[in-house]
Amino acid sequence: MADLTSRPLRRDTLAVRGGLMRSQFEETSEALFLTSGYVYSSAAEAEATFKEEVERYSYSRYHNPTVTMFEQRLAALEGAEACYATPTGMSAVFAVLAGLCAAGDRIVASKALFGTCYTICADVLPRWGVEAVFVDGTDLAAWREALSVPTTAVFFETPSNPTMTLVDIAAVSELAHAAGATVVVDNVFGTPLFSTPLALGADIVVYSSTKHIDGQGRILGGAVLGREQQLREVVRPMIRNLGLTLSAFNAWVLVKSLETMDLRLRAQSNNAQQVAEWFEARPEVVNVCYPGLASHPQAELARRQMSGYGTVVTFTVDADKAATFRVLDALEIVDISNNLGDTKSLITHPATTTHSRFSAEELADMGITAGTMRLSVGLEDPLDLIEDLERAFAAIAQA
Ligand SMILES: *Cc1c(COP(=O)(O)O)cnc(C)c1O
Repeated sequence: MADLTSRPLRRDTLAVRGGLMRSQFEETSEALFLTSGYVYSSAAEAEATFKEEVERYSYSRYHNPTVTMFEQRLAALEGAEACYATPTGMSAVFAVLAGLCAAGDRIVASKALFGTCYTICADVLPRWGVEAVFVDGTDLAAWREALSVPTTAVFFETPSNPTMTLVDIAAVSELAHAAGATVVVDNVFGTPLFSTPLALGADIVVYSSTKHIDGQGRILGGAVLGREQQLREVVRPMIRNLGLTLSAFNAWVLVKSLETMDLRLRAQSNNAQQVAEWFEARPEVVNVCYPGLASHPQAELARRQMSGYGTVVTFTVDADKAATFRVLDALEIVDISNNLGDTKSLITHPATTTHSRFSAEELADMGITAGTMRLSVGLEDPLDLIEDLERAFAAIAQA
């Protein structure tokens, strides 16, 4: 077969052809290599492999052909030199931050982080002598001040969960590099289709592939993308030595998921835009957070650094906790679940679930009230979703 890697292929082609490695059986679909080890043709070959004189598969904690196919396909779609897969999004975040930092080092992070990412920065790394400083990610002056001293790593998520605020990737990367920091972006909400942090100056991108990359609610996974040399030095030893290895089965699910990811994301973000616009017109809704709306406080930045606005819409109804729970319980199509990025629409109440660790004051500061709900919009017909939400809104008044 022709070597596809030498041609500048377009994105839709890479999604189904990128990283493809066929075995001697010439199978059409990517093969699932369920094997922990590999055999050598001679003792000398084993010796050469351990001396790293030859590059070949040796043990599945280090690498596996199905995992390689997923890594190469995602790297091609992200436009990254290298990708390392991990078993969860959290192991990707931990491998990068723990790989970059040693005792005495300093991390500056946006405070609007996914809960467990915040715990890694605020609790886990400080136990090993890493200082963590948190800033309002939307405030460039706060970043400038925090980055006025030498810093090892900068970490943020854009858009953020659940209020969909953005960080200016290019501007913060410039400030971070001046402070000597490596810029790490959690791009789960941005998605590989709509947000390209590496092209805007970030050094490393991390994903929970549990979310839109699988996108069908089946498996957990994660990935780290960036420059080959930096990841080889920083991330590869963490993955190999700590055993943060993606299973071949999950890699196989993910490599097949990448074939349809862009199609799903385009359809889901169109649905999200339609639902967000419907929310804006509803009298029950007092606030809608979606970067695709002109009313988003950073709409101009969203247009500048995103090519689409994602699948999550956060909205607030004028209701107390009991009335908001009645809305959630009245939904017949949308499921109550704290997961996101699924083909099925999922809704959660941040104040009592994903963000219950925050005090009432901190929640108010973020704009999260008892009436705030986070909707991950799926692939259903948006008109059915709107009818479901409209039916559920009627429950606000029924005390
Ligand atoms: C889900 C999520 C993670 C963690 O990923 P897991 O696969 O659950 O470990 C990290 N960051 C963001 C923004 C997420 O949504």
